[in-house]
Amino acid sequence: NGTVRVNMSNVDSPLQIFVRAKKKINDIFVEIDDYVKDAVTFMHAVSGENGIATAQDVANVEAYVSKVQAIREVLKRDHMKVAFFGRTSNGKSTVINAMLHDKILPSGIGHTTNCFLQVEGSDTDEAFMRTEGSEEKLNVQSVSQLGHALCASRLQECSLVHVHWPRELCALLRDDVVLVDSPGVDVTPNLDQWIDKHCLDADVFVLVANAESTLMVTEKNFFHKVSTKISQPNIFILNNRWDASASEPEYLDQVRSQHANRCVDFLSRELRVCSPKEAEERIFFISAKEALLTRMREREKPVSSPLLADGHQVRYFEFVDFERKFEECISQSAVRTKFAQHSRRGKNIAGDVMAALELVYNSSSEQKAAKVEKQRVLQEQLSAVEEQLTAITRQMKDKIGRMVESVEHKVSLTLSQE
Ligand code: GDP
Repeated sequence: NGTVRVNMSNVDSPLQIFVRAKKKINDIFVEIDDYVKDAVTFMHAVSGENGIATAQDVANVEAYVSKVQAIREVLKRDHMKVAFFGRTSNGKSTVINAMLHDKILPSGIGHTTNCFLQVEGSDTDEAFMRTEGSEEKLNVQSVSQLGHALCASRLQECSLVHVHWPRELCALLRDDVVLVDSPGVDVTPNLDQWIDKHCLDADVFVLVANAESTLMVTEKNFFHKVSTKISQPNIFILNNRWDASASEPEYLDQVRSQHANRCVDFLSRELRVCSPKEAEERIFFISAKEALLTRMREREKPVSSPLLADGHQVRYFEFVDFERKFEECISQSAVRTKFAQHSRRGKNIAGDVMAALELVYNSSSEQKAAKVEKQRVLQEQLSAVEEQLTAITRQMKDKIGRMVESVEHKVSLTLSQE
């Protein structure tokens, strides 16, 4: 049906840092789960009538079962999140499509993104969308269908639409990357609400700027707000539409260094999110349109094929370079922010259950010692009784002996008198 499945081997991808860490921590939580359940079984076995563990001890350990379950659920859903911002028509949707190697999001005239769109992997073969607060799955087979569905649903600028796309079709989705497209920052949004609702858990932000103009106040303002709410956000700047530079090659270097200097200044001196040297590694000059076209051709998808402008290969390599650095950054950030917390909690749970078991062990040892002591006292009492009995028996024997003697004596006396 014309669908090309990507079977790219991506074992070398920096995203694997996250994928492997996720697998490992999931495995560890399976073990913690087993351990907690074993502890519950044990507690039940030693509780009840005359038991060592009290009902409270059992309940305490049992409570960890649901806690571990809840963490395992969160872990299963943990992903790496990247959010794209910029003015309308700078090419946010095109960048996302190029990264996904396919036209998934509608882009271009008449398709300005008027709400937040989150593209994420779907575990089934189906592509579908879901609006916020609704469980209804709307099937989407094509970009135009998605575009129509989005227009028809009349969404508010701050609302979120989930677009689920088969994981098998995109390497990024398969590795648990979630991409969020936003309305243009120029649509006078409620920036605070945007950030609170959609950005606090983002691992990476990508500012899609227009290389044909310069960084705008609206774009800068947005990131100023982001950096007041999130400490040290990871921000990449894509100077998109760099293909325009091909028409004026004599100014290319000059324009590039002018843009680059401003971007470095913005990240390092204005936002203070990194050093100037680090900032240089976060700025790229690309053409998302060309990158998407190149990838669509690679996958033998039907595309209108305008001639690519001079220097398109260099721009494409820079796009690939961006992706590599982006992947390194996002996977490291996600491992740090998402898993560090889980592993701390896992450690605490294991420690708490161990302490509960130790408490029961100690009380069982105490009970044993008490029983031994009780037995000793009992034995002492028994020995005393035994001694007393022996003494009494001896006395009785003597007495009876004497009585028998006296009776015998009396009998013989009586007999002799007769
Ligand atoms: P968004 O509103 O930021 O999501 O922008 P879109 O991705 O919808 O892009 C707006 C228009 O710009 C579309 O017609 C794209 O084809 C075009 N566009 C996107 N990237 C580039 C680029 O690198 N070069 C050129 N020449 N056009 C681009």
